Amino acid sequence: MMRDVGIHMRGGVITERDPDFCTVRVRLPAGNLTVEQARGLAVIAKKYGPGFFHVTARQTIEIPHVNPAKLPRMGKALAKNGTPVGSERDEVVNIVACPGVERCKFGNIDTIGLAKKIDEKLFGREMPVKIRISVSGCPNACTSPMLNEIGIMGRILPVRTPGLCTGCGTCVEYCKERAIAIKNGISVLTPEKCVQCGVCIRSCPYLLLKPEHRHYLITIGGRRGRHPHIGREFATFEQESEVIEAVERIVQWVYRRAWSGRLLSEQLDELQFSAFRDEIVQGIRERTANETPH
Ligand code: SF4
Ligand code: SF4
Ligand code: SF4
Repeated sequence: MMRDVGIHMRGGVITERDPDFCTVRVRLPAGNLTVEQARGLAVIAKKYGPGFFHVTARQTIEIPHVNPAKLPRMGKALAKNGTPVGSERDEVVNIVACPGVERCKFGNIDTIGLAKKIDEKLFGREMPVKIRISVSGCPNACTSPMLNEIGIMGRILPVRTPGLCTGCGTCVEYCKERAIAIKNGISVLTPEKCVQCGVCIRSCPYLLLKPEHRHYLITIGGRRGRHPHIGREFATFEQESEVIEAVERIVQWVYRRAWSGRLLSEQLDELQFSAFRDEIVQGIRERTANETPH
């Protein structure tokens, strides 16, 4: 739950180089805003700022050069517009997502829907370390999920329908990883080379390649900035509900056990990452298995 503090103390209010002014960052899960919200933001930016926006690297919008005395009224106007004051400090900050299946031909999952659901549950929650969450619809990783504290990526493992391949080689041409070859007149996959993007499945003119395992990969402990760090693989899940539960439990675990002032990536071993991962993955999978009709 977001902290109930005065607007001057909110993470989305950032003191500028000239301390007489602040920049106000808004909450925009997945970077989506309606035309009406954009119009409303334009009016607010003109009334309370100098009349322009700054678009951030994490899919939010900032209104710069705001007089702090005007923050309470501006905060109410932003909330009424559906674009409330955002987050920047040691909190769960704006959830980032690529277009995913909504618009991108490479998308394997509903990135925007997932980002909005996670935002509703976790945005603004006070944490010992900043938690950035990023969702990408495929291994192209356009939103760099593995460079965030929690990353989510949609993947598909392909499998060829036995006995029907014509050996036309179309899937070989589409695979950028050189993970498919034609051997003895049929396509053969080398799993170690496959990044599970699913492109070959959509390329086969005879629809012989099927999605064997459509899933979400969760990574944890990634980091951008002055000490970039690739997140560790946490788990894979097939259901969106499992992903949301896992993210909630990761955030709860970090909240209870992490130390402030250090990167999450530097604490994972001390926080017994492996034991925690095994515990929650097993718990979620058992619950899903019990709920699945046999
Ligand atoms: S990560 Fe994949 S699905 Fe998302 S925008 Fe990039 S190419 Fe499309
Ligand atoms: S899923 Fe992607 S990487 Fe794997 S074989 Fe198909 S095209 Fe290649
Ligand atoms: S595109 Fe389809 S038919 Fe052609 S080689 Fe690949 S799996 Fe076989």
